[in-house]
Amino acid sequence: MQEQPPSRPGDPDRAGWSDSSARAVLQLMAESVGEMIGFEYSVLSVVMGDQLVTVAYYGPEEHREYLSRPDPVSLIEPIMARAEEWGPRLRYLPAGTTQDLEGHWVRFEQDEAVGPDGWNPMDALLAILRDDAGEVIGIISVDKPVTGRLPDARQRSLFERYAAQAERAVLTTIEREQMVEQIAHAEAARRMIRMASRPAHVSLDAVLEHTHRPLVDGFQAGGSWLQVLDPRGVAYARKGSGDMIVLSDEAVEVAHTLAPVLWAEQRAMIVEVGVSPEIPESVHRELEAMEVDTALAVALGAGPECIGFLALSRFVGDPPWSAVEIDSAIQIGHDLGAALMTARSLERERLAVSELQQLDDYRSHLVATLSHELRTPLTVIAGNLELLGALDLDPTVASHHQAMTRGAVRMQKVVDDLLLLARVSDPGHPLERIAVDVRDVVTDVASLVDSAAEVKGVRLGVDLPAEPLTVAGDPTEIDRLVGNLVSNAVKYTPTGGGVHISADRHGDHVVLRVADDGLGISEEDQRGLFKAFFRTTNPDALREQGTGLGLTIVASIVERHDGKVDVASRLGEGTTFTVTLPAA
Ligand code: ADP
Repeated sequence: MQEQPPSRPGDPDRAGWSDSSARAVLQLMAESVGEMIGFEYSVLSVVMGDQLVTVAYYGPEEHREYLSRPDPVSLIEPIMARAEEWGPRLRYLPAGTTQDLEGHWVRFEQDEAVGPDGWNPMDALLAILRDDAGEVIGIISVDKPVTGRLPDARQRSLFERYAAQAERAVLTTIEREQMVEQIAHAEAARRMIRMASRPAHVSLDAVLEHTHRPLVDGFQAGGSWLQVLDPRGVAYARKGSGDMIVLSDEAVEVAHTLAPVLWAEQRAMIVEVGVSPEIPESVHRELEAMEVDTALAVALGAGPECIGFLALSRFVGDPPWSAVEIDSAIQIGHDLGAALMTARSLERERLAVSELQQLDDYRSHLVATLSHELRTPLTVIAGNLELLGALDLDPTVASHHQAMTRGAVRMQKVVDDLLLLARVSDPGHPLERIAVDVRDVVTDVASLVDSAAEVKGVRLGVDLPAEPLTVAGDPTEIDRLVGNLVSNAVKYTPTGGGVHISADRHGDHVVLRVADDGLGISEEDQRGLFKAFFRTTNPDALREQGTGLGLTIVASIVERHDGKVDVASRLGEGTTFTVTLPAA
């Protein structure tokens, strides 16, 4: 008789299993079945998707190549229908029952006449391997008994025993393989979610947007639903395709109720549509309408705070959620929770900043409006006081007149400063730049302040280079900037002291220094120096009249001109203000 290829095709190398030691175990099983029961061929195939793929082969080497082609799983049903049941797993297909399963595992040749218990080459004997749920997971088939006879009772029970062992081995391998695969998927999902939470994507919407794909791919889910549990309550439900799903209020309510419980107990929940009692009837129907069969739900949070809900769905026929997947989902609840928390607090911060900005705008607007409104009546008062001053006043009235004039002048100074501050700190007010030589400004200011300094007994020194110190700016503003610094220096320097103004060019910058050896400013006071209405705590300084707006105006003008201002001072020793402006 001509050498026959064995009845079960397939190629062990086709089984893309990661674990080669598992394959070695299955190979040993196939060999044992062949050797111990006494068959020349023994082939172990497992169900992979809709194919039966050979994972172990025992038999003559030259026939291995016949096994390269996997078979469709649909072959199993007709085999089972026709087979004689020899045991829980063992099935015998006598010659003549399998012709129509042509091309798969049956050879076409004549039946041979054999005795009552003789083996016909067209006979087939196999063991069906199943999982705990009764689903077929594989087949061991044998061919060509060395005795040429059908196996006897002892051989059959031995085959049955080996088949049971092989079944366990295949199941363990499949489970492990699934686990390896799921871990890889879940890991990929976690990595993607961490990436989605990086600073580039910190807005809430961006985090939600970037997590759908990795979740659906990583978990092989039909869709994903992320629910943020704040009053704004962003719900973000999508189908696998990415299309948005609008969820009912009842469904959203379920998320709000379930999430805190799941977070507190650090567990996941599998929702079985039509079954789970935790879900109201209407939501079951809603999920049914979307063809959802099961959902894996976890809470999102960080620390003690639960801030969201995540559910992944699967359809009828999809595999059940495994322990590995459930664990990863809980971990992702932590990762995503932290990401959402960051995004949420950043969003709140942004909101607070914009509210403060609005408040600041309102305050500036109020100050500007009030100053404008005060200016006209003040001008009227000042004008009338001037007229009164020209008259020959009774000495008592004259002293009242003088007091009123001093008050009016002070008020005018405050109003002028407020108006100027409103103007220079308003980003909407454009800066009209022209070339300004800082030397000219310093000379003008010095000559203006000179007499006041002389009256007070304060020396005023000026040190300027021969070459121009041009900056691009508003000449009036630069004038106020220098004026405020120099008049402060004279004001806060006692008789006998000195003020020194110098300006020079340093690289691309013009640097102006106003130094005095006057009262000096304590370190603590230096911190508040540029704030509106700030006056130092030094009683000697408070004796001088001031509005506390001069340095705020200086800081705003410097900022508008892209420069900076620094102060170096020691209480009782003196102060130096340094202004750096970009040279034109
Ligand atoms: P003011 O109108 O009170 O002078 P400023 O904003 O110009 O307002 O200054 C704020 C405070 O800084 C002053 O009240 C004063 O105490 C202190 N100060 C400013 N310049 C000097 C200086 N050159 N020496 C000592 N103290 C100064």
